[in-house]
Amino acid sequence: MIKPDAVENGHIGAILEKITAAGFKIVAMKYTQLSVRDAQEFYAIHKERPFFGELVEFMTRGPIVAAILEKDNAVEDFRALIGATNPAEAAEGTVRKLYASNIAENAVHGSDSDANAQIEGAFHFAGREVY
Ligand code: GDP
Repeated sequence: MIKPDAVENGHIGAILEKITAAGFKIVAMKYTQLSVRDAQEFYAIHKERPFFGELVEFMTRGPIVAAILEKDNAVEDFRALIGATNPAEAAEGTVRKLYASNIAENAVHGSDSDANAQIEGAFHFAGREVY
């Protein structure tokens, strides 16, 4: 996902350019907005964390871009491309270093495993929306 902060700040095009330049193929994509229920479900793993309410508020405050990306070693390579969760700790040239504001509003989401990528892809897209 390209998160609401990056959409608000006009970074959709630049982020998609970095993603495709890094060799990812976009197999599904949509511009959409998460409901509170959607965000609570998507981030259910974090529901006991102190920042859960803030996270849901942030992720629902405006539109996002959801995409499914394909590449060999996609999960690891995408996390390398986006950088550390906290942009202050992200490597130079990474998406979060370039476009994120802080640890909460950090521009992009990437799945953390192949299994979660399957679950998260199915959360956003019907089978017929995946090419
Ligand atoms: P990720 O896999 O790099 O996205 O990081 P995590 O799974 O640890 O956290 C999920 C998301 O929760 C992050 O991308 C942030 O948007 C948000 N988040 C993480 N830590 C904090 C925090 O300390 N405060 C707030 N408000 N949000 C946080």
